[in-house]
Amino acid sequence: MRVYLDNAATTKVRPEVVQEMLPYYDEFYGNASSVHTFGQEAKKGLDRARDRVAAALGAQSSEIIFTAGGTEADNTAIFGVAKKYASKGKHIITTAIEHHAVLHSCEQLEQEGYRVTYLPVDEYGRVTAEQVKNAICDDTILVTIMFANNEIGTVMPIAEIGAVCKEHGVLFHTDAVQAVGHIHINVKEMNIDMLSLSGHKFHGPKGVGVLYVRNGLKLPSLIVGGAQERTRRAGTENLPAIVGLGKAIELATAEIDENAKKISALRDRLIKGLLTIPHTRLNGHPTDRLPNNANISIRYIEGESILLMLDMNGIAASSGSACTSGSLDPSHVLLAIGLTHEVAHGSVRLTLSEYTTQEEIDYTIEVLKKTTERLRAMSPIYNESATSDNK
Ligand SMILES: *Cc1c(COP(=O)(O)O)cnc(C)c1O
Repeated sequence: MRVYLDNAATTKVRPEVVQEMLPYYDEFYGNASSVHTFGQEAKKGLDRARDRVAAALGAQSSEIIFTAGGTEADNTAIFGVAKKYASKGKHIITTAIEHHAVLHSCEQLEQEGYRVTYLPVDEYGRVTAEQVKNAICDDTILVTIMFANNEIGTVMPIAEIGAVCKEHGVLFHTDAVQAVGHIHINVKEMNIDMLSLSGHKFHGPKGVGVLYVRNGLKLPSLIVGGAQERTRRAGTENLPAIVGLGKAIELATAEIDENAKKISALRDRLIKGLLTIPHTRLNGHPTDRLPNNANISIRYIEGESILLMLDMNGIAASSGSACTSGSLDPSHVLLAIGLTHEVAHGSVRLTLSEYTTQEEIDYTIEVLKKTTERLRAMSPIYNESATSDNK
């Protein structure tokens, strides 16, 4: 059996999405900036995708900027605000558990003389609106806080944070890459000034994303050149991918409640099954979490060994974020919620999708139980300490 439980890293493109994209390779292949009929056909596809994204977010079409992914959207928002408001202030507020697209942007700005507050999170990975409020200074120009965490699935109190930012006149950006298509989002009701999303996290294509920027806020473009995206992002649009993203966000949003119900039921079955293994814990918030995320620490074994054994049994999972899997440093997110290096190292992330079946979940629980037993039987640390440790 081949089981894909790494949907936070990327998802499969839905067949309906592929179908919608295909004509834009060999039929409507004009450049959307051209005035002839080929160009106008392409422009129509671009406009429709923009309308679909706007509808999914409760935004206006004029507020949607297509980018080459979530990373570029995050960079555009953070560097754009920093550059534009440098004379007003150089203080930025974020959290300790952001995606590297946000963290590394902030770290780069620190090198350039900006001050960044990395808010600590609680044991579940949450920050409060109160923490944000207390961190705002006279020179704060931006608050950037993720909607939902990509490793542990914790959902942040975004509407409350948005309200605090509005009250204090500070711009609010949220990296909603993991939340879009899973959680209802309305940028107006939540007082979000800027929002990043990425096509390949909700069954759309890779290399395409969106930055929503509230009307009235004009950011300098990160990529300069032609006048595409009303001069907010230069370069000929990746039309097939944009059309695919539009279709994918429309489908995901229409099915959000139905899918959340179905996927979270399977996720809960998975979590329940895995927590019957001795010396395990669930990471992230028990209820305020993404419907598709299970992150479990399994003590006395290495996450990397579990991943290898899972892979040998046809199961794809992750030990944290895709970026940290290649290195030996434990995940910054797991350390921020208070795990020791040892416990963080023995953590696995399993992320489901609407294509996940109960059969796959039950198989995964079985394999993980057996794998854990086998690895622990070989572990001298387990044999010495587990019996005298109730954690
Ligand atoms: C995947 C991801 C990104 C990066 O998006 P890309 O489209 O892969 O560049 C940014 N933030 C979060 C939370 C993510 O999960």
